[in-house]
Amino acid sequence: MKPSTLSDLRSTFGDHMQENIPLSSYTAARIGGPADVIVFVHSADELAIAADKLWKLDLPFSILGGGSNVLVSDKGVRGVVIINRARKVNFNSQAEPPTVQAESGVTPNDITQRAARLGLAGLEWAASLPGSLGGAIYGNAGAFDGDIAGSLISLELVHRQNGRQTWTVEKMEYGYRTSVLKREHPPVIILSAILALRKGEEQAIRTKMEQFSEQRRETQPQGASMGSMFKNPPGEKAGRLIEAAGLKGSSVGPAEISNQHANYFINHGQARAEDMKALINLAKNTVSEKFGVSLELEVELIGEW
Ligand SMILES: Cc1cc2nc3c(=O)[nH]c(=O)nc-3n(C[C@H](O)[C@H](O)[C@H](O)COP(=O)(O)OP(=O)(O)OC[C@H]3O[C@@H](n4cnc5c(N)ncnc54)[C@H](O)[C@@H]3O)c2cc1C
Repeated sequence: MKPSTLSDLRSTFGDHMQENIPLSSYTAARIGGPADVIVFVHSADELAIAADKLWKLDLPFSILGGGSNVLVSDKGVRGVVIINRARKVNFNSQAEPPTVQAESGVTPNDITQRAARLGLAGLEWAASLPGSLGGAIYGNAGAFDGDIAGSLISLELVHRQNGRQTWTVEKMEYGYRTSVLKREHPPVIILSAILALRKGEEQAIRTKMEQFSEQRRETQPQGASMGSMFKNPPGEKAGRLIEAAGLKGSSVGPAEISNQHANYFINHGQARAEDMKALINLAKNTVSEKFGVSLELEVELIGEW
């Protein structure tokens, strides 16, 4: 990055900026080389201002919430990575249906816990879901009996050319673990969203959340991971195919295809992105050869590969 650009960034972001920081500290898998610059934002307004500034400078940038659905390369990311800590949440229990307006850096789990306290149901499926609301909206996160597409009413985003906009859920063109943002990468950043809730009874909501969290603890391998590595092919389970291909427990360095759930790839220590990539290729190639199925990544590869 040019020294003049760096000094412009320093004077704009001050204490909210760090340089040459390993992204392994900001990803759930604990993997990822350095970003030239990291900028921390703490509100939707700060996020919109930061995005606007970076677009005006014509600097490449990306945004991470929890870093729980990305594999960041060992070479890291050139340009700026925004770390989203915009976490304001407002409930409207009187609306019909009741709603929550939340900034995109909050965790869906946090919204769910607070909703339960107010006797508001509908997001129990998101109990214990890692990552931020922004990441969940981007990739249509879901679990058990729900997903974001089923809860989202609208979102506010900032668009490089068109500024701040409100999109209804239909504009996201949601599919299974995908959206128009994930497929087409338009230049937008999600600032906040309104989700639909419904009136319920606190104890019943908590019981359901606890059941889902318990199910997660039972089925989800321990250790640093990115959750499901591949999407489930139609009518199939990616984990079942990888297991049937005999790859459970396969490892490259400290990266391993989990013995418990073959669609989870675990970092047992200082695994590199290249180790994970080698396991991804192994799983893709072996499943393709043995079953003629082409596995599609759910996780995104970001940075310089
Ligand atoms: C142990 C574990 C279990 C998991 N279980 C599930 C599960 O049950 N169901 C499920 O669906 N997923 C699951 N995941 C994956 C992950 O939790 C979700 O995909 C989550 O919603 C990602 O959010 P994030 O903030 O971590 O996204 P990140 O990984 O930070 O980012 C993912 C993508 O979203 C983009 N993005 C993030 N925020 C914004 C924003 N504000 N505006 C625009 N783009 C943005 C990023 O640039 C990136 O392209 C699991 C992951 C782990 C580690």
